[in-house]
Amino acid sequence: MGTLRQQIATNVLTVTRFRDLMKKLEANRPNDDLEIVRKAYEYSQKYHAGQTRASGQPYLVHPLEVACVLAEMKMDPIGIAAGLLHDSVEDTSITIVDIGKEFGDQVAHIVEGVTKISKIDFATREEQQAENLRKMMLAMVDDIRVVLIKLADRLHNMRTLEHLPPERQQTIARETLDIYAPIAHRLGMGKIRGELEDLGFRYLDPIGYQQVHDAVEARRKEGEAFLSHVETVLRDKLKEAGITANVESRIKRLFSIHKKLQRQRITVEQVYDLCAMRVITRSVQDCYAVLGIIHNLWRPVPGRIKDFIAMPRPNFYQSLHTSVIAENGTPFEVQIRTEEMHKMAEEGIAAHWKYKDGSVSAKDEQRLAWLRQVVDWQRDVSDPNEFLSTLKIDLYPEEVYTFTPKGKVVVLPRDSTPIDFAYTVHTEVGHSCVGAKVNGRMVPLRHKLHSGDIVEILTQLGHKPSRDWLAVVKSSRARNKIKHWLNVHQRERAIEIGRKLIEKEARKYRISLKAVKDEALQKIASDYGLGRPDDLMAGIGYGKYSARQVLGRLAPAGTQPSGEGEDQGGGFASVVRRVFGGDANAITVKGHGDLLVYRARCCNPIRGEDIVGYVTRGKGVAVHSKNCPNVTNLLYEPERRIDVQWTRAKDEGAAAAYPVKLTLFCDDKWGMLKQITAVISDTKTNIRNIEARTANGQANIDVVLDILDLKHLETIVSGVRKIPGVHDVQRLQKI
Ligand code: MN
Repeated sequence: MGTLRQQIATNVLTVTRFRDLMKKLEANRPNDDLEIVRKAYEYSQKYHAGQTRASGQPYLVHPLEVACVLAEMKMDPIGIAAGLLHDSVEDTSITIVDIGKEFGDQVAHIVEGVTKISKIDFATREEQQAENLRKMMLAMVDDIRVVLIKLADRLHNMRTLEHLPPERQQTIARETLDIYAPIAHRLGMGKIRGELEDLGFRYLDPIGYQQVHDAVEARRKEGEAFLSHVETVLRDKLKEAGITANVESRIKRLFSIHKKLQRQRITVEQVYDLCAMRVITRSVQDCYAVLGIIHNLWRPVPGRIKDFIAMPRPNFYQSLHTSVIAENGTPFEVQIRTEEMHKMAEEGIAAHWKYKDGSVSAKDEQRLAWLRQVVDWQRDVSDPNEFLSTLKIDLYPEEVYTFTPKGKVVVLPRDSTPIDFAYTVHTEVGHSCVGAKVNGRMVPLRHKLHSGDIVEILTQLGHKPSRDWLAVVKSSRARNKIKHWLNVHQRERAIEIGRKLIEKEARKYRISLKAVKDEALQKIASDYGLGRPDDLMAGIGYGKYSARQVLGRLAPAGTQPSGEGEDQGGGFASVVRRVFGGDANAITVKGHGDLLVYRARCCNPIRGEDIVGYVTRGKGVAVHSKNCPNVTNLLYEPERRIDVQWTRAKDEGAAAAYPVKLTLFCDDKWGMLKQITAVISDTKTNIRNIEARTANGQANIDVVLDILDLKHLETIVSGVRKIPGVHDVQRLQKI
């Protein structure tokens, strides 16, 4: 505990700083009600009472300084209040609920966002990881004020970093350079970015910092003299041309000089263009006029003229850049922009972010969407022409950022599940995944993951993927791995079925399969264009080839199968013939004349309808109507789809007819059934069955007809529809 004198001193310190804050707010936002700020200050004072920072100062100084940085950004009173309270939930006994009660939902929501982000350990040494962490931070944020408070918080912590032990300094400095400075950059906040970078550089690489610092200091005098000279020359020329503009110049920031050294692999002594000049004009027109004047005065360095006015940078930075060489041979950089562009370059999002009073509106949401678009982390866009295309790519930031228990970032598509996560970690982890914990709690496998979740996968040795998983996974990696596993294992089953069918057929020929040499099977496999006998068995199992055909090649010439003479098809042919009622030749599979096909009983396609074939396991090729709902369900295994077509009916009379069931909705009146049957018999159609149910003056009539093809069916349906009293006719897929 400090002495009374110290306490008085610190009270004076914080009270004075608070007064500064209020003055700034009153000046910046004259119409705002600042009561909430006052209240937050008192609240913060009360709850942080007795806490001190590493510097020995009362803790209250920190939230107060953060609020002052926010006031510089012209943050609204709600954001300032949230800034004053930003550490209260983390460091005191206050809860989010308390804050909600005292300050309303908005302040509570912002403080909650800041607290959530503070819990994440952003320290990293990997470039890729840093990129993901930056994305994660923005993906977690739904109020831009959360990001701005985090930046202000970090800025004050960096300004007071000297009080922490060296290892902490290193960690925090690295995090600042990896995460926070780039975020400030992407938000276009040049001023904060510059300060964060210089401070980060100073603590992360004290020796390098000192070298650059000393080299700059050694040449500062000379540089400043040079700049004041060229400034005067330019000012005179501008006056002559009648252009009003501010000319200012500076020695470049240490971190940007340092980066230049690294990029160009030169030593500090070799850095020559430490000097930079900035011209701030009244209009865009003047910007280009000034550029012309400068190029008339000094020789431009070829390839260094950049027009970011016509082609703004992704963070909306606008300016003209050029490098020129003065009469004495000293090169220097010039930036030319309007006042508005300058404000945007320094303050970024804060410059045009008009903090509105009241609730977070749909507009705020839009701004946030804009922000996420602008934050294109993937590439540093050097070519301004790429701007539009990158903007488009980032329009839908459909990703979530999750953690392994060890803190590695796992990036997944939006709405991903623990199964997606498991497959991203490792294929085997995916296959054997039986459950998951998210943030320490058990969740179902179909649970949707959110950014910031820590996911732990529970596995069980020997557990197998399920086909149902395909319906819940979102990542293509997981989908492909599951499909691949299913295919491999289905193939094993198909081989087994193929073997059984061959054995069954072999018994009919009284051939012992054991006596058949591998070479014989291998030869048949090769004849079919297959690699190995197993492929042949799988083909039989899938129904691509018939066991009988294969065996026919194995059996010695002239051998006849035993048993019933009419059972010519073996394995599935009998099944197929049952289904077709003797018309197994009505459909052919393109390129496979002898494949066994049958009409799927779920939709019973008729001649003329668009059809699609599907290779079943062991039953041949099922032919579905293209409209059959099962077809879409079968799409997940496109490799088993096969083209089929109707064979040409050899002659009209002999063509096979298929039963089709129609339901007629009509009035229940005398003579109805008679009229309907008359229309049907006029088309020479056989009626297999007819049933009628009546209720409340309405009748439903089910009729099963022998139909030749689609045209035939359409003739009957349109005829029946014309009967007065018939309201509707529907075809039932199932008979
Ligand atoms: Mn803080």
